[in-house]
Amino acid sequence: MTTLLINSIYRATEGEGIHIGTPQIFVRFQGCHIGCVNCDSKETWDFDPSYTISLDEVMEKVEVLSQDVIKRVSITGGDPLHPSHIPSLLELVKELKARNYFINIEAAGTRVVKEIFDLVDFISYDMKTPSTEVRTSKDLLLRFVKEYGTKAQIKAVVADKRDFESVFDAYHFVQNNGAPLAPWCLTPCYEPGEAFPMNRFQQVVRLNESFGMPFRVIGQQHKWVYGPSEKLV
Ligand code: SF4
Repeated sequence: MTTLLINSIYRATEGEGIHIGTPQIFVRFQGCHIGCVNCDSKETWDFDPSYTISLDEVMEKVEVLSQDVIKRVSITGGDPLHPSHIPSLLELVKELKARNYFINIEAAGTRVVKEIFDLVDFISYDMKTPSTEVRTSKDLLLRFVKEYGTKAQIKAVVADKRDFESVFDAYHFVQNNGAPLAPWCLTPCYEPGEAFPMNRFQQVVRLNESFGMPFRVIGQQHKWVYGPSEKLV
């Protein structure tokens, strides 16, 4: 029997990236070892076996939430692409495809997992910025955009000018090495417990304008609507 480590399954409106505003079902994996210091989902880090549920239970929950109307699933985490998740993730993806769901996967930007990426419909690939204290390899990013850029977005959380410049540098590296033009989205950082950071948003918009506007700047709408600490939204 296939089992998965799942934090939560819920229906909500996509709050970030180029599909912002789209209703979908989120399947959030439990377990992440990447360790971004400004992570807003630290409750998903522990690979706690008490979160284990069967693939049948996952699909039953998805189908109840779908009502055969919402046929989009976003697989997120945690880190759904951690090697220990891959066998069960693959079974989940195959089952969702067999039932005609559009599948987006949120990738942390630390791995390119061909067996999963070939099957899903869209990949949201993180470029980790210096403020996360996690490094995204530019070579891996280039490889990813070359192989999957036509069905992907690159997403980067930006806290300050140093973060912006690191994304700008990676963007030029990727574009100057023959990769297709994928949408690059900047997400101004909005941390749990913080008041709405209007100045930071404005700084990111202005930086983008002063650097020739290569990026889309898209905030996390669910945090404006429900507050930055609310879960399952
Ligand atoms: S990869 Fe995602 S869940 Fe993991 S630490 Fe970073 S932001 Fe948090």
